[in-house]
Amino acid sequence: MELRENMVSSISPDYAKYTSMIPRFQEFARNSTDKFKNRKLFTEKVINSDCGSKALVLYSQTGRRTKVISIERCHNRFCPLCSFIEQKKDTQRVEYIMQQASQVEDSALLAFTLSYPNCSGAQLNDEIKLLNSSYNKFYKQLEREGYMLGSFRKLEVTYNDDTNTFNPHLHVLFHIRKSLYFGTEYYKEADVWRQIWSRCSNREDIKNFYVRCFDPSRDTLSASFIKEYSFYSVKPSEMMHSQEVFDYMVSALKSKQVYTLGGSLLEFGLYFDDNKDTIRKSRAFAE
Ligand SMILES: [Zn+2]
Repeated sequence: MELRENMVSSISPDYAKYTSMIPRFQEFARNSTDKFKNRKLFTEKVINSDCGSKALVLYSQTGRRTKVISIERCHNRFCPLCSFIEQKKDTQRVEYIMQQASQVEDSALLAFTLSYPNCSGAQLNDEIKLLNSSYNKFYKQLEREGYMLGSFRKLEVTYNDDTNTFNPHLHVLFHIRKSLYFGTEYYKEADVWRQIWSRCSNREDIKNFYVRCFDPSRDTLSASFIKEYSFYSVKPSEMMHSQEVFDYMVSALKSKQVYTLGGSLLEFGLYFDDNKDTIRKSRAFAE
């Protein structure tokens, strides 16, 4: 393998795609910061950075295989390139957490999508706060039933340009003790889960509710399942639809926590953070 300095855009189509969005991102970031002066949304360093301009890349002898060693970055969570890179790292973490969870005997994962009806940009900030407090009620009620080993929650916001509305929702995983849930009074069909969510969120009009059980003795972890829990909190292409959409998304998500882990899933996440180099290396050998 040979080490070369290179422009990011020549490494891979993905890098090129997100790098090409950076000038627009920086323009929007400057306008937002000027508009919401008291919020300090973006620093000068982010707005004027050379994010994505240069990278150190390892090339294989044929030049076909590449590995990015280091890259000039702004490290802002809303930056298209930086969020793409973080998401790649995040996928490994989420995959590790799920794999560890599925090796715990007598356990399964309940996967939920907990959503609110679409809202306008002006309502988005308050709707996210309400969504989080509804989730806390939902979680507390289930925790009392005694089968919960751990939890994982990810906030996501999508934008629909046909209706100019936003959809805040949570991707949730509960790691549960199977024998304390299945075949007991606590077992619930999808519709009962939906009613509980409806009650906790005080909304009658919830249409998009999703629950499924991932049982490691029967199911295998798929890339698309893992991705659902590690994808962006907002898609760069949606966020940069217009300055208005960008302003709403950034100001609503700025101080919000995107991920929350608890119990067994938090332990697996912390173990990954402490040992990620060893874990990644052992995987590279396995491939
Ligand atoms: Zn960046």
